[in-house]
Amino acid sequence: MPLNIPFGDLKRQHDAIRADLDIAIARVLDSGWYILGPSVSAFEEAFAAFCNARFCVGVANGTEALQLALTALGVGPGDEVITVANASVYQAITIVAVGARPVFVDVDERSHTMDPAALEAAITPHTRAIMPVHLYGRMADMDAIMMIADRYGIPVIEDCAQAHGATWRGRPAGSIGALGCFSFYPTKNLGAVGDGGAVTTNDAALAEKIRRLRQYGWERKYYTRDAGGLNSRLDELQAAILSVKLRHLPAWNARRRAIAAMYNDLLADAGLILPEAPPEGDHVFHLYVIRAAERDVVQARLREQGIGTDIHYPLPTHRQPVYAPFAPREGLPTTERLAREILSLPMFPELTDDEVHAVAETVREVVRTENREPRTENQEPRTKN
Ligand SMILES: *Cc1c(COP(=O)(O)O)cnc(C)c1O
Repeated sequence: MPLNIPFGDLKRQHDAIRADLDIAIARVLDSGWYILGPSVSAFEEAFAAFCNARFCVGVANGTEALQLALTALGVGPGDEVITVANASVYQAITIVAVGARPVFVDVDERSHTMDPAALEAAITPHTRAIMPVHLYGRMADMDAIMMIADRYGIPVIEDCAQAHGATWRGRPAGSIGALGCFSFYPTKNLGAVGDGGAVTTNDAALAEKIRRLRQYGWERKYYTRDAGGLNSRLDELQAAILSVKLRHLPAWNARRRAIAAMYNDLLADAGLILPEAPPEGDHVFHLYVIRAAERDVVQARLREQGIGTDIHYPLPTHRQPVYAPFAPREGLPTTERLAREILSLPMFPELTDDEVHAVAETVREVVRTENREPRTENQEPRTKN
């Protein structure tokens, strides 16, 4: 009997809290108010408190959260924004959208997050913002990044889309840089049942500006103050659902950590490189990403055995044709090597202990078989990226 363990299963989460979701949804429907009303305000207040930030502004999605953050800081044509290339294209999309130039720097091999030394080396008189990504639920090295940013007087925009509830020396993601940007895409640690996003900040003026920018740049209805505005609102229905789910987020994140600890234990001597929680704070394991030399073969064998996996992300941003013009001449060696080796195993709070054991056992078996079989010429193409 092949296994049937999905990479993700949102229905399990919604079934578990269905009664509360139904009540929240009905309340919004009955209210007759669907855009920027009491549900959005309540969620913004609750999420700001969760992030230990003074302000939270709900927006339509994580990508526009990043774009509005750049616009609020006044980033535009002629400016450079330093970011990473291993977290899909979201950051680059927004930097290019405001007319600025993405400057990609390499990542630290162990944390998969922005390498502070590479960051400092990339700063020029044109650098107007730094956009690190707290990837897979692990925060970037915010001590080093903030020290460099403060020394040069450059604001930091934290991409927190995979890090709801992660901490660095007790400070939550979204409370350290000038602005924190969140996505509530359904599969994130805190997910809507549609699109959603938020920007957090401790700066009242920036919060007000984001509030205007998310709604056409309006100061008040029909009177525009800021250029660069969008229609990027979080809606009442999503906000009400997010408020219900936010109450469960600490327990869900704890369960993700427990699953990661089980995987780490069960895979300790499997011949793979496993993710580690940083000593500086809480990892929230949005994804559990291992490194395997023969990644494509391992993934194919796991699929045959009925285990869903994914790759986050297979093609670094600077290697995507659209963004290749911004690729650093010397490439990004660590980013490129990691892209060939990374593999995301099933990781969601509703995964059972039995499923975690079955995944780990199958991974061990697949890797053992792979190491035993001498590779032949014929097998080469399968392992190539
Ligand atoms: C999901 C994600 C985004 C984009 O969020 P959307 O809501 O899908 O626009 C941005 N950055 C990272 C790191 C993400 O994982």
